[in-house]
Amino acid sequence: MENSDNTYRPVIGLEIHVQLSTKSKMFSSAPNNPDTTEPNVNIDEVVTAEPGTLPVVNKEALRLGVMVGLALHCEIPEYSKFDRKHYFYPDLPKGYQISQYDEPIAQNGYVDITLPSGDTKRIRITRAHLEEDAGKNIHPEGLPYSLVNYNRAGSPLLEIVTEPDIESAEEARIFLQELRNIVRYVGASSADMEKGTMRCEPNISVRKPGELTLPKYKVEVKNINSFKFAEAAINYEIARHKEMLEAGNMPKQVTMGWNEKDSKTVEQRSKEEANDYRYFPDPDLPRLHFTKEFIEDLQGQLPELPDAKRLRFKNEYGLGSADIDNLIIWKELTYFFENVVSELTEWNEVEGGKLDMPKLIKQAANWCLQDFSAFLNAMHQNPTESLVMPENMAEMIKLVEQGKISSSAAKQVFKVMFDKGGEPDTIVADLGLEQTSDEGSILEAIEKIIAENEKAVTDFKAGQEKSFGFLVGMAMKELKGKGNPQIVNELLRKKLSE
Ligand code: MN
Repeated sequence: MENSDNTYRPVIGLEIHVQLSTKSKMFSSAPNNPDTTEPNVNIDEVVTAEPGTLPVVNKEALRLGVMVGLALHCEIPEYSKFDRKHYFYPDLPKGYQISQYDEPIAQNGYVDITLPSGDTKRIRITRAHLEEDAGKNIHPEGLPYSLVNYNRAGSPLLEIVTEPDIESAEEARIFLQELRNIVRYVGASSADMEKGTMRCEPNISVRKPGELTLPKYKVEVKNINSFKFAEAAINYEIARHKEMLEAGNMPKQVTMGWNEKDSKTVEQRSKEEANDYRYFPDPDLPRLHFTKEFIEDLQGQLPELPDAKRLRFKNEYGLGSADIDNLIIWKELTYFFENVVSELTEWNEVEGGKLDMPKLIKQAANWCLQDFSAFLNAMHQNPTESLVMPENMAEMIKLVEQGKISSSAAKQVFKVMFDKGGEPDTIVADLGLEQTSDEGSILEAIEKIIAENEKAVTDFKAGQEKSFGFLVGMAMKELKGKGNPQIVNELLRKKLSE
C-alpha cells in the first residue's frame, strides 16, 4: 500500500479486550462477575496465587473464544497453548499473566464494515487469543496509600488484534461498533465499553506524503471507555502526529492515556517490546487441541450474524439503513421486532393480503425503537424480560390501523402495557380510549363548535387557514380527544363550505 497522493495518511490498528461472560474465571472456579461492587469477594486461592495452587482451563471460555474467532472468519489452528507474560504490578499476584503468545486460538480473519458512503471495507483480524485479566489498583485521592481489588483478576479475556487497515477515527468507531454487535450476537460478552467489559487500545501512526512503507513508530492509547472517546482520542493523536511530521520531527514511540476531562492524550510510559515480557510456555497448562468435529460443531452453533441480518432486514422488510442499524445493535430487540412482524403478517393473510405491510412493518420498527426502547432502557430491561409480548404490540398497531384508537391513545395504552402487562383491547376499554368514527356524534360536536366560535368561522371563510386548525382542536376537545382525526377534518371542512 503505497502512499502515492500528497496527503498525510493515518495508519490505525486496534487491540480490543473483551471480557467473556462465563460463570467462573479463566483458570479457577471463583465467580466472574463484572457487576460486583464489594471488593475482593470474587476470589479464591488460584486468583490470589497462594503457593501450591494450579490453574485449570475454563472450557466455556474456550468455547466462547473459538465462537468469536469463527464469527470473525478466523482460522482456528488445531493446536494452541498458553504462555506466561511477566511483569510486576500489585494487581497481578502471580507476577505473570497467563496469555497466549505465538499460538493463539484464532488467526487471519476479517470484519467487513459499512462506511457512511455505503461502501464496504474489509478490516483484517491478525489474531484473537485468550488470557486472564489483572485486578485493579485504586489510588484514593489525598491518601498516602493505594488499594487493590482482585475481583477482576483472573477473569477470562479474549484479546482481538487487527491489522493496521483502519485509516480514520470514524472507521475505527464503525469497526468497534460492529465488533461489539458480533460479540453480543455470539453471546460471548456484554461488550460494554462504559462498564469495561470491552476495552480498546488503538495504535496510531501517520504516513507522510509519498512514504512507501508503514511508519517506523506507533503510539498506543489506553484508558478509552466509550466509542466517542475512541474517536476523539484517535483524532487528537492524528492531528498531533501530523503537526510533528510537518515540522520535521518523528513522534516518539510511547503509550498515551486518554484524559477525558481535558479531551487530550497524556504520555504514560515508553512502549515495551515483546521480549521485555520474557514469554515462555506455561508448564502448568496442557496444550490445547481442537478437533475438526469440535470446530464444526461450534460453527453450526453460530447465530445469524449482524451483517447477514442487516441484509435480510433490508430485503425482507424494506427498512431504511438507520432503522436497521438501530435495531441490529440490540439482538433481543430484533427477535421481538420479527415476532411482531410475523403477527402482523398473519393478520394480513387473514385479510387476504390487502393490508399495507411496508407501512405496518415501519410502525413496528418505530414502536420498538422509540417508546419500547426508551422504557426498556429506563428500567435496564431486555425485551425478553418485559411484560409486553410481541402479540400485544401487534394488536395495538392493528387497533390504530383499524381506526379504533388514535395514535396518541396508543401511546397511553403502550405505557400501561409496559408497566402492568395485558391485552391492548382490555386496556383501551378500561381507560375509555376508544376512538369514535361515528359520523353522527362527530357531526353533532362540529355543529356545536361552529355555533360557539363565530369569529373563527368568519376568519376561516375570509381565507385564514389557521382558524381551521383552531376549529379542529375545539371539535377534538368537544369529543374528549376520541374523534377519529381524519373524519373530524373531513366533516368540518365539508360543513364549513356549506
Ligand atoms: Mn492483553
